[in-house]
Amino acid sequence: MIVMKFGGTSVRDMEWINKALDIAADKLNSAPLLIASAMGKTTDKLQNIAFCAEKGEKESIEKALDELNDFHINEAKKGMSGKNLDECIEKINKYLFELKSIVKGLTVLRECTGRSNDAILSFGELLSTTLIAHRAIERGINTQWIDSRNIIKTNDHFTEAELLEEMSNQLITKAIQPQANKLFVAQGFIGSNINQITTTLGRGGSDYSAAIMGAALSAREIQIWTDVDGILTTDPRVVSKAQVLDSISYKEAAELAYFGAKVIHPSTIQPAITKEIPVVVKNTGNPEFPGTHIITKTERQGLKAIAFKNNITVINISSYRMLLAYGFLRRIFEIFEKYKTPVDLISTSEVSVSVTIDKTSELGKISDELKKIGNVQWENKKAIICLVGQELWKDSLFISKAFSQLGSIPVRMVTLGSSDTNLSFVVPEENTNEAVQKLHKCFFEDNE
Ligand code: ADP
Ligand code: ASP
Ligand code: MG
Repeated sequence: MIVMKFGGTSVRDMEWINKALDIAADKLNSAPLLIASAMGKTTDKLQNIAFCAEKGEKESIEKALDELNDFHINEAKKGMSGKNLDECIEKINKYLFELKSIVKGLTVLRECTGRSNDAILSFGELLSTTLIAHRAIERGINTQWIDSRNIIKTNDHFTEAELLEEMSNQLITKAIQPQANKLFVAQGFIGSNINQITTTLGRGGSDYSAAIMGAALSAREIQIWTDVDGILTTDPRVVSKAQVLDSISYKEAAELAYFGAKVIHPSTIQPAITKEIPVVVKNTGNPEFPGTHIITKTERQGLKAIAFKNNITVINISSYRMLLAYGFLRRIFEIFEKYKTPVDLISTSEVSVSVTIDKTSELGKISDELKKIGNVQWENKKAIICLVGQELWKDSLFISKAFSQLGSIPVRMVTLGSSDTNLSFVVPEENTNEAVQKLHKCFFEDNE
């Protein structure tokens, strides 16, 4: 069997749903499971509704809900007819009714917890897959719609829920028995806790859903269908000359994803690695193009791609008590652990430690506790630029070339070698694009 995941832009309207279904129909004898995101920017719109509910902004909510309703009904009318259309509209109305009731209650209370947030966001995927499944039926495809909340089980960490793997695997294999000439359609991004309360896997999490289900079902391949030709040497929105990579290792892809390449979600890779399932990233608008294959190992060493992550905060903790002391780092990291704040990069000297974080919601509390250990300073509006490739550290010429490209851009932190697949710099956020463009030009364009 194969898993085919289509992102928001790939199912942005009925025309694109048709393109996605052309691709799936072509692979019907490979027993496909189609996993879809919400249509276009629906999740952003739902997120905005959740924010407005918290502020009690009734009018903007009503307008946004009407727009969502009209959009999904109109697209349904473009793809379905007769009884099939009636059934589809009935489901859309049911979801919109549920969504409106939830939002109404929250608007009165002016609150939106993580749990309520997940409930609201889940409607994007529930609606998109309803349209996709009914369109597939309209096209005469033997189709079964699956509610991912019944098979993806998670803990209670709303908005970023963690998978309960064993339980989920059992439910997935029970609910989905792939067979040739049958299309299963399920939602990405959403799941539920053991009490059946809706959770989500974090923004962009549909890729992860695809990998979880693909691993559980021992898929032959996991295909990530998106709006670019594959994984590129950098974000094409920053460098128009970014080039498609024909292959990349799991490790490199995970590093790229973690350091900001939105094309795949950072957790995507893990379930696929465990089972050694090939992942392919392809373009829904250009299906003939081979795309990028994420495989166990690639032969080519050296730089593969450049990722970046804006909105980074650097925290510096310095203390003379650290000099020759052990246990100091442990105390620091226990504080980050206590406030569930992941640390991305670390660099240390005899008397100070610098770390970067991108989640700043707990920064105040973290900083208060760190002050008990030493002198604390933090700087925001920083960016991590991450050069990804195997064994970069072995090539000192490469390292000096990379540094010299940055010219007068101040480099606040450097980490190299802790993983053998990345070299990362921290620079001011205002210099991100310039730094990425210069590095890309030097390593990928100049010898074209
Ligand atoms: P989807 O809706 O299909 O999940 P996303 O918007 O999440 O799509 O991811 C695709 C986008 O990721 C691309 O349009 C591109 O702008 C961005 N992107 C960032 N870095 C890269 C990269 N290295 N290669 C390809 N795309 C990238
Ligand atoms: N629809 C969700 C989001 O926009 C999940 C995804 O697209 O992967 O974050
Ligand atoms: Mg995505």
